[in-house]
Amino acid sequence: MKVELHLHTSRYSPCARHRPEELLSRLVATGYDAVYLTEHDAVWDDGELAALQEQFPEIRIFPGIERSIGPILDGQHLIILGARDPEYARLCEPSELLARARMHGHLAILAHPLRSPSSAAMLLAGLRPDALECRTGSHDEARANMIARAAVRLRLPLVNAGDVHRLVHVNKCWIETLPDLHHADDIRDVILSGHYTLHTRDLVPAVYVE
Ligand SMILES: [Zn+2]
Ligand SMILES: [Zn+2]
Repeated sequence: MKVELHLHTSRYSPCARHRPEELLSRLVATGYDAVYLTEHDAVWDDGELAALQEQFPEIRIFPGIERSIGPILDGQHLIILGARDPEYARLCEPSELLARARMHGHLAILAHPLRSPSSAAMLLAGLRPDALECRTGSHDEARANMIARAAVRLRLPLVNAGDVHRLVHVNKCWIETLPDLHHADDIRDVILSGHYTLHTRDLVPAVYVE
């Protein structure tokens, strides 16, 4: 399955430029099979997510969140795939977020690592996410290569994700999973077992930073 792991819509992320319907139409048109909605510090309401899924039967729409960690305006974020509990929007300590994600069987990805000191502080404190975001349009190839080297040292898997805020960010960085994802938390086993491949297309380094 072609999967977008990191996407923002104007419904819950003030910095996103497009409505969910516009972004989902573009994902379907470019061959995606599944997407995780990872809004900034907000989870989608279950009923609202179900209505959106009904509108787009061609693609699986899964819940998630991108939570800010560390000092405010630090810009460091942790993605919890599968999160639908509003409590995630209230937690900002990485230790609490990681513990809750593990309890719920969700996958925790450190978004755009090395953007700020908070990510290094978290890793140095021994707080390990399940994976690191490597290639994404929100940082350049040099940063992606640094992250790839860090992943080897830390023995953490890498994922590619769009960090989509606009239509033009779709279909640039993604993963393809070997098994199909039937439930939101199926992604955890797929990433931890390495049953996926990394992809990029027409990636212009640092084409956008949000
Ligand atoms: Zn982010
Ligand atoms: Zn993001």
